[in-house]
Amino acid sequence: MALFPQSFIDDLRLQANILQVVQEYVPLKRAGTTYKGLCPFHSEKTPSFHVNPEKGFFHCFGCGVGGDVFKFLELHEKVGFQDAVRMLAQKCGVSLPERAEGGDEGAGRDSALREALLKAHEVAVAYFREQLAAPVGARARQQLKERGVSPATIERLGLGYAPQNRDGLKTRLLAQGFAPGVLLQSGLLAQRESGEVVDRFRHRLMVPIARDTGSIIAFGGRQMDPDQGGPKYLNSPETPIYSKSRTLYGLHLTKAGIRKLGYAVLVEGYFDFAQVFQSDAAPAVASCGTALTPQQAQLLRRFTTRVVLSYDPDAAGQGAAARSCELLVAEGFDVNVVMLDAGEDPDTFIRKQGPDRYRERLRTSRPYLEYLVDNAAAGLDFEHEDSRRQFFARMLTVAARIPDAAARDQFADRIAHKARITEEVTRAEIRKAAVNRRTTLTARELPAAGQMKDAEKALIWGLIHNTGEALGALSELDDADLQSLAGREIFAMARSLHDQPPDALPSGLLQRLSTMNAQLVTSIAAHPHPPAPAAECVRAIKRLRWDRERAAIQREIDRLQALGAGQHGREIDALWQKKKDLLHRIED
Ligand SMILES: [Zn+2]
Repeated sequence: MALFPQSFIDDLRLQANILQVVQEYVPLKRAGTTYKGLCPFHSEKTPSFHVNPEKGFFHCFGCGVGGDVFKFLELHEKVGFQDAVRMLAQKCGVSLPERAEGGDEGAGRDSALREALLKAHEVAVAYFREQLAAPVGARARQQLKERGVSPATIERLGLGYAPQNRDGLKTRLLAQGFAPGVLLQSGLLAQRESGEVVDRFRHRLMVPIARDTGSIIAFGGRQMDPDQGGPKYLNSPETPIYSKSRTLYGLHLTKAGIRKLGYAVLVEGYFDFAQVFQSDAAPAVASCGTALTPQQAQLLRRFTTRVVLSYDPDAAGQGAAARSCELLVAEGFDVNVVMLDAGEDPDTFIRKQGPDRYRERLRTSRPYLEYLVDNAAAGLDFEHEDSRRQFFARMLTVAARIPDAAARDQFADRIAHKARITEEVTRAEIRKAAVNRRTTLTARELPAAGQMKDAEKALIWGLIHNTGEALGALSELDDADLQSLAGREIFAMARSLHDQPPDALPSGLLQRLSTMNAQLVTSIAAHPHPPAPAAECVRAIKRLRWDRERAAIQREIDRLQALGAGQHGREIDALWQKKKDLLHRIED
């Protein structure tokens, strides 16, 4: 059912070195036969993320994620399995096979659609840029000039203009052979209530939005006139290629700078970004109005864990800005806040005062947590018990989310100082709140681990580390033995792979399992020591089954006896005999 034949995926998997792939994203250190580093999927200061290159899997003891090399790419690059295969092939220099005969038409269609949508956006960028340069774009050019955006910046950001007419882009796209259905899905056109399909963006300054790789996937369109109707900023809707919550504006232009300088400036809008970018004051990205999402934070983490937030100063302590800061803190980022003068944003500030003054503000930016405490404390009268309690409760929710214990204690001391509560009490309260938070997370992440019997876990451990022996043991179990086990899908899959070379089984198994089952397997396999020999596990699993059967027989006996032992004497005798046999086996 895959786009790529399984044989291709298997070959690619064996060729790929999971260690090399992971190391492109995460610095790793050797620790015995495995490697460890800071987990890229949750924030931590002590490494609990392990890679086992020999067995071809990764696992994080902190947040529970795990899987094979494909799963790593899926999670890290936020792509589906087919795209992960494509990326891995590219990394390994393996050419992709011709589309498999009888392959999944759906998957083929999906990727063809995404390709068409990307092409449509390329056409649209070119169209909007032409319009900006044409006489019809004169006013837009004028506005950009008034906003201090230079022709070079217009060029580099790919800015354009969507003219007033209703179907200029539509006509262009249709002339280039795009199917009307594809165009509707692109978000570039919109269907009116009357059914008529027209250009979505009209009389707007157009800002192309790109993936961090540079492919254009959406647009933001700014009003030309305040009274032209519609919102001030109109954005592309979510499409098969565009997810707002996973995109940071400008990252494709600044990612190298962010890596080099070790921090990113987070600004609010396209024009804040344009000014910071043009002045070369710092590497910026824009969140575009809404609060940062966890996916955006993870995207940014690929490049840095230090962020300077540069929003409108009135907004820094509240709404989207506060939520963004709290999220970044919870994701383990070091967050600073820039203080501009009231009414200024980076756009106006740089235009009036120049990039050097802005850089100066960045240098003197304050740690967010410090800022938060002062801000929350401002205007509160700590002589009043109520004020203190209110302040403390508010700070506690932020503090509990700080992943690093040392940073948390430091924050606690600051709170204690402000609210005049002892440091010990504050630290203890915060630690309690943080622990509560952690437990709920872990329980949710691995739902089935608790239901798994020790013998199952031991056998799964064996499948990865002592494959030949565990497969031999597994072959002594039949379907009925596996039936009610939490790990039955894992065992069934392992059995179906028995003719693979034992070396290839661990990663082959992981690749074929569901995400949850693969995660279960890696969580067990990542432990360094064998829980029990495979043969013993098989016995224990058999016994579990006999126990179940014995209980079922007992229930049937009870039922028949309740109906009247006289009428059912023979049946009851037969059941007793079966039960005795089972007991013998169990006690053997
Ligand atoms: Zn983790």
